[in-house]
This record gives sequence, C-alpha cells and structure tokens, in this order.
Amino acid sequence: MNYIVLDLEWNQADGVRESEREELPFEIIEIGAVKLNSDREMIDQFNELIKPQVYHVMHYVTRKLIHLQMSQLEKGSPFPEVCEKFLNWCGEDPIFCTWGPTDLTQLQKNMDYYHLKPLTDKPLAFLDVQKLFSIAYQDKKTRSSLSDAIRLMKIPEDIPFHRAFSDAYYTAKILEKIEDDTVLSYCSFDTYRTPKRREDEVRIRFETYAKLISMEYPDKSHALADKEIASCKCYICGRKCRKKIKWFTPNGKHYYSVSFCDKHGLMKGKIRVRKAEDGNVYVVKTQRLITQEEMDAIKQRQVKAESAKKEQQKKMIPSRNNKNQKVRSSKPESFLRAVLRR
Ligand SMILES: [Zn+2]
Repeated sequence: MNYIVLDLEWNQADGVRESEREELPFEIIEIGAVKLNSDREMIDQFNELIKPQVYHVMHYVTRKLIHLQMSQLEKGSPFPEVCEKFLNWCGEDPIFCTWGPTDLTQLQKNMDYYHLKPLTDKPLAFLDVQKLFSIAYQDKKTRSSLSDAIRLMKIPEDIPFHRAFSDAYYTAKILEKIEDDTVLSYCSFDTYRTPKRREDEVRIRFETYAKLISMEYPDKSHALADKEIASCKCYICGRKCRKKIKWFTPNGKHYYSVSFCDKHGLMKGKIRVRKAEDGNVYVVKTQRLITQEEMDAIKQRQVKAESAKKEQQKKMIPSRNNKNQKVRSSKPESFLRAVLRR
C-alpha cells in the first residue's frame, strides 16, 4: 500500500480572449506527486506538464502564482496521456493525499471531460494533509498555508513553492513528520461523485465524531424529510436519544440539534445540505458529544434564529397570496412535518 501525495496546477479562462467552458472551468496543466511507502518514506516521484487543449491563454492568476509560460506547456503531453501514465505510476489501491480538499475533484472533472475511466463511482476517501496537520499540531479547525506549515515544522525550504511537484513534495514532508499514527485515521471524502443509493452512503465513526454522507435527493426539503437524516440516535451505542434542541437553522444552509443519550450524554447534530454535481442535493451529517456549556451556546443561537424568523414572518403578514411560501421559509420544521405526513 502506497501513499500518493499529489498536487495539481490548473488554468482557467481569462474571460477576455477566451470564455469559460462550462464542462471544464479548470484545465489541469501540471501533475506533481510523491510516492510514500506504508512507513511513509519517499520512494518515488512524478512530475509532468500538460499540453492544454481547452484554454490557450494563461490566466494572470495562474501566471503570477506558478510562473509557467504557455510555450513551456506546449512541450507537455495531452491530459489523457499524462493522466494514464500517472495512474499507472500510482499502482493498485493508492491512498491519495493532498493539501486541502480541491485537487481530487478537479482531477476527476478533467478525467470526465476526456471520458476516461472513472477513479470510482462513490465518494473517494483521501487524506487531506492540511486538515491532518491541524489535527496534529493546531486546533483542528485552522487551515494553514503550505508554506506556513513548512515553517512551523522547520522543514528546510530547498525548492520554490507553487509548482505541482514542489507542493506535493512539501506536503509529503509534512505527512512524513506526523508522528501520531491515529491522526491518519481522520480521512476525508471527495464528493465529486456522491452516493446514488442508500447502500453507497458513507457512514464513518472517528474518535471524536461520526459522519454520514447521504445519497442524493431532488431538493433540500426531501433531504430533511428523510427520517434517516432527521433522526438523532446516539452514534456510539445506537440508543434512541431524547431531543433537547430540535433541528433549527440560523442560515438555511446548516441545521443544528442537541439530543441526550442516557449513557453518553449530550450530543450535537449538524446537517449541511450540499449541491451535488448533477444539480441534486446531498447531506453531510455529523454528530459529536458536547459539554453543557456548548449546549447553552447552541440554545442561544436557536433563540436568536427563532426571533429572526419571527421578525421575517411579521414582515410577510400583509401579503396573503404567498401563504405557502411563508410557511416554508419561516418554519422549515412544520414544513418538514407536513412532508412527513404526506
Ligand atoms: Zn449512547
């Protein structure tokens, strides 16, 4: 089993001389990668430029960031060739590792554009080293730049940043240095491909929280009406919990709840509704144990969200003809129940 630490550089339409191609907003122009063995020691490297097929003008941000000229790229090979070579180099069942969460989405999008065989038909597990670095050395939430992390870890800066290979190399250096093996169990999932069926859903339990990446739904209300999504069973023992704070949303995007397990105590639920590539939605639901103080803070947010809703409701009272809409936007909970009864 090998770790493949990769970094991609991509170009985009400059908006003046070339307009954006909707199927491929970001065209990969360079793949850099480092292979680590199961002991996390560097054993090989990959470094290739890609000859552009879609955007032939270098976007100023790309040029400024990575100091690459179009004339250099012209010497590379087209994406399908480089990608095939790269995937062969990766070997069987690689564990992909990247700095931040975006590279694997772009890789898969570029592969789809050229109709290459997909990496997977489900969410793709990978290690986000930026997140692991935060779990190992920071507060779990901070996301540092690669150069800041390199300095914090006192890793010698022997090659310039912001080229695919150098960034993959530095990311691998950080991965090598993470001493606590349990940190590596905090894998991430690239959701370029979302679960299409219940059995493809991702359910994973980490040391301090549990995560569900749901199948797709046509829209938010269908997602929230699914009992599987709304339920608040304890993620540790599976017991039915008592609801302390019902699902509420401060912004229409994130939903929160607090429930109580007799054995494990207070548990926070969080639902994020996300757009899938095909326009449907899916849900990322997390649950974790919290303290009484954290519960009090959530209660305060709920009270604030409720009063904001009431304010909005008051404003809407004069218009009688959008009654249904009023119920929907101001009271998603009751709308949810209405859907459930149908
Ligand atoms: Zn429990």
